[in-house]
Amino acid sequence: MDKIRPIYLSEKNGDLWLTEDERENLKIDYRIKDIIYAEQSAFQYVMILDSYAFGRMLALDGIVQTTSIDGHIYNEMISHVPLCIHPHPRQILIIGGGDCGAAKEICKYDHVERIDLVEIDKLVVEACQNHLPEVSGRLSDPRVHFIFEDGVDFVKNKAQEYDVIIVDSSDPIGPAEVLFEKSFYQSLFKALKDDGLMVCQSQSPIFHAEIMRQTHQRISSIFAKAALYMAVVPTYPGGFWSFTVGSKQHITPDPARLRGQDLLYVNKPLIKSCFDLPQFVLNLL
Ligand code: SAM
Repeated sequence: MDKIRPIYLSEKNGDLWLTEDERENLKIDYRIKDIIYAEQSAFQYVMILDSYAFGRMLALDGIVQTTSIDGHIYNEMISHVPLCIHPHPRQILIIGGGDCGAAKEICKYDHVERIDLVEIDKLVVEACQNHLPEVSGRLSDPRVHFIFEDGVDFVKNKAQEYDVIIVDSSDPIGPAEVLFEKSFYQSLFKALKDDGLMVCQSQSPIFHAEIMRQTHQRISSIFAKAALYMAVVPTYPGGFWSFTVGSKQHITPDPARLRGQDLLYVNKPLIKSCFDLPQFVLNLL
């Protein structure tokens, strides 16, 4: 505790705390055991912290992105649902996803030939590969191609290249703000093949209901089919978290397509019923 005190951390009664300042009048405090890594990149302040409640965690500009305790929930849901909807996914694009957790899940599908992971911040990948193996698995599959570029620029000139695009972005503030814009979803539509589909994380139905509703509305206005599904991720504000799929053809998941022996959240019944939503979420759309 006598090492450097990065910003976003403070000491109270001899304990170290990370205070996550949410946009919607909410603060969440995590008691921290140790600072594993802290570096300012060109885009954000990158920290790997060891916490008492959630083990090691990645925080960007003080906001928790993923942890060794609940990271699998988000990463399994953002990866396996779209891979169970597409009948033959071969070419995959991940935008964001620098913690490598989503790519690690996609690698469980032998028929996937290539995964392009377009992450704006190389430091996030390095920090997670070196210090957050519970999430990244120290990913070294040769099908994964790391491209360090802004996701918006990367997709701009792509046409009919991908079967599935996963937008694994941080919150719509800072570098990820552009990943929630309608013009970006239009570029994704163009980058997808005729039977392609995309999924993005679309925030909390409790604390970011308007962003969630707007994201669903923007995607429905571009794609033939759009649908929302949810997972409970304890470290995200409110717990409930939403994902939105946009598909050029159908949106029905087939649980028989599920791969992975070690899954902890996703299973076949959950895949089958993932689009069954609580009434208050339906009311918001
Ligand atoms: N699971 C997380 C969540 O919902 O909070 C997101 C994980 S992942 C770490 C998000 C990544 O998106 C970050 O590493 C960030 O650097 C990256 N990112 C943000 N804006 C981006 C952009 N415009 N292009 C590519 N990657 C971007």
